Formats: sequence, structure tokens, C-alpha cells
Amino acid sequence: MDDLINYYEKCGISKEVYSFGEKILDSLKDRFETFDKTAEYNQLKVLGAMQQCRVSEACFMPSSGYGYNDLGRQTLEAVYAKVFSTEDALVRPQITCGTHALYIALSSQLLPGDEMLSISGKPYDTLEEVIGIRESIGSLKEYGVSYSQVDLLPDGSFDLEGIRAAIGQKTRLCAIQRSKGYQTRPSLSVGSIGEVIKFVKSIRSDIIVMVDNCYGEFVDTIEPSDVGADMVVGSLIKNPGGGLAPVGGYIAGTKKCIERAAYRLSSPGLGKEVGATLDINRTLFQGLFLAPTVACAALKGAVFAANIYEKLGFSVIPDSNEPRNDIIQAVTLGSPEAVCAFCNGIQSAAPVDSFLTAEPWDMPGYDSDVIMAAGAFVSGSSIELSADAPMKEPYAVYFQGGLTWPHAKIGILRSLQMLVDKHIVDIYI
Ligand SMILES: *Cc1c(COP(=O)(O)O)cnc(C)c1O
Repeated sequence: MDDLINYYEKCGISKEVYSFGEKILDSLKDRFETFDKTAEYNQLKVLGAMQQCRVSEACFMPSSGYGYNDLGRQTLEAVYAKVFSTEDALVRPQITCGTHALYIALSSQLLPGDEMLSISGKPYDTLEEVIGIRESIGSLKEYGVSYSQVDLLPDGSFDLEGIRAAIGQKTRLCAIQRSKGYQTRPSLSVGSIGEVIKFVKSIRSDIIVMVDNCYGEFVDTIEPSDVGADMVVGSLIKNPGGGLAPVGGYIAGTKKCIERAAYRLSSPGLGKEVGATLDINRTLFQGLFLAPTVACAALKGAVFAANIYEKLGFSVIPDSNEPRNDIIQAVTLGSPEAVCAFCNGIQSAAPVDSFLTAEPWDMPGYDSDVIMAAGAFVSGSSIELSADAPMKEPYAVYFQGGLTWPHAKIGILRSLQMLVDKHIVDIYI
């Protein structure tokens, strides 16, 4: 293994940083084994769905124009519905990103006079404009949909009494965000999501429960739709695209919800029947096929980073031992310099654009400047090794992804090296 140490050194990672990492890894064998088992289970699940839905070579034929009778698209949606245990699914390249998928899911179910209730506190930043928490053209608020919110309790659990009190006549939809997003709260387990769904349905069974599933897919052996969610929503340039999907989003859910969502995405009357997929289906199938092992690689990276930075005295969420509910690792570095150094360590380890320097910028949809390190094959893909941070207190960096475990490891070691070189951390302590 001396060869490997020397090669790391040639690639700019010192013997000290490498050895520090190896010591941490020695303590993570059991955790990694658990992640491998989850990946194995989910690989069986995805494979089984593809076989049962009779995925064939004909599914990879391109379609154009209106895209009527697109066998690949129809089969892919059937596969997603199987994987997520739902009646139906909408999986489309015309869904531009996660925010768009969530907007479609929400705006298709909420009519003027209805109220949306978020029961996991403040939603993801970009949804503030979707909902109208921050004024925006075309927000739900502009269309007469009101919004209210119940925060999680200080320990990160659901506030059941608060939820009971907030559900009223107008409440049409409850939204739950599985992953913390750009917040320093714990992400939610599928188990706890299932319990709160049962609670909500016991108050009013006709309330639609939507779960923002971004970054959560394949982290567990069950998904929120296995425990009662009417809709689960996410982005194909995160977990379920397996790094191969070049664009797209998905909504999996009940027949009724998906029909409304499809009418919203395309047009009343057209729904799921239109939407050419051009030549993209093969990558969407193949990406889904790889997604369980890609999510597993990302989880290993997240836990490796958590253990490194906790050892160095930083606050990390989740902490080094916590069970995982998404692939995101937050590390509170505490200063703009440290955030920039960390992100540029990740940038320098990328297969694409490794020679660039990441700088904070005013990204659309966010209320502060954001720095993003991403040298990805798919632009903006955050299932690939990436790190981003809003440039505001407490200067926490959100690290995620890694298509392979070795690459996640290299990226994390590089970020550590960058912090050591800038004398921000000292690994001899
Ligand atoms: C990424 C993300 C979104 C938005 O997805 P985009 O593809 O960036 O628009 C929404 N919610 C959560 C929790 C996310 O992580």
C-alpha cells in the first residue's frame, strides 16, 4: 500500500492527511457494511422493478414531436411507480429540476382558497418564492393559496399538538421535507415521517401529504411513499438519476395526484400522453439502475467527512454516529475563509473544471450569496461530489455526493489538505 500513499502524495495529499483519514476509516467498517447492505436491498428492488415492467431494448428508442406512445417513457414511469410503491409516477426531462417538480406537485393539488401546511418547518430556500413566503411572480400566494407552517420541536421531532392546532378547514395539503436542505436541523427518518402521516390522516383523511424526497432516495430500504405519503418528489440530478440522468425530475404518488400533476405539467386534457423524451430514456433507466450504489458511495463519503471534522472539533450534522436519512453532510466551519477553502478542496478534486476556483455568487432563488464547488459531468449535479454553502452565519458547508466511494474519499482528503495548508485546522492536535 506504500504505492498508494506515494501516489496520494504525488496528487497533493500529504502522508499526514492520508494517515489521519485511514485512522478514521478503521473505525467505520461496521457503518460501511450497513450501507452496503442497504444498497444490496435497493439494487434488488430496482432490478426487480425493471424485470417486472419488462424493460426492453425498444424502451431506448428516441421519440420526437408530441411523443405519443413513448414506450420508454411509459415503462420508466411504471418502474418508478414500482420502486416507490405508488400507483403511478411522472418522470420527465421536461421537469427542469427539483424545485420545478415540487412546484408542479403543489400547484396541481392546491386551488384558490386552499391552504398548504408545512409541518417540517421552513421549507427549502427555493420554495419560498414558489409558495410566496418571498414575493414572486406566479407564486401560489398570487393564485390565492395560503400557507402556514409548524416548526419542528427543538429536538428535531414533529410538533404533533402544533400540527393538530394548525390543521383547519382550508388545509388541503401537508408538506414534509425529508432532508435538512440548507438548515442545521436533523433530517427526518422515513419511520418518523410514516408516524406523522398517520397522525395527519387521523385528523383528516382527505389531506394530501407530499414529501420533498430530495437527497433521500435509496438511503433507506423504504421510501416515504411506503409509509403513506400521497406524493414523493425529487430531482433526477440527485440520487435517483445515479449521476447519469442529464436532466429531469419525478413525482411518484397516487393515481389521482399524478393525473393532476401531469395535467399541470403539460396541459389540461393532454396530461401524461405527451412529452417526447428525445434520446434520453436509456440514461434515465441506467441511472436509476446505478442509483442504489451511487447513493451508497455518497453515504460513505458523508460519514467519512462527519467523522473527520467532528474529530477536529467542528460541529457536524448529522454527527459521527447518527443514523443517516439523506446524503447531505453539514459541517459548520465558522468563517468565510474556511468555507471557501473547503469548497475549493472539493473543486480541485473534480474530474471536470478542477483548475477553476469556486467563488460566491448571487444564485437565483437564494436570499444570500452561495458558493458552490462542483466539477460535475452534469452541470449542477449534486449527486456528484459537490459542496455548497450560503455565505452567511453560521458559515456551514453542505457536502454531498460522490459517484464512487474512492472519489468521495479523495475529495474529502483534498478539502482537509486545503484547510491544513491554510492553517485553519491542525491535524496534530
Ligand atoms: C435540491 C433540493 C430542492 C430543489 O431542487 P433543485 O433541483 O435545486 O431545484 C428542494 N428541496 C430539497 C430538500 C433539496 O435538497
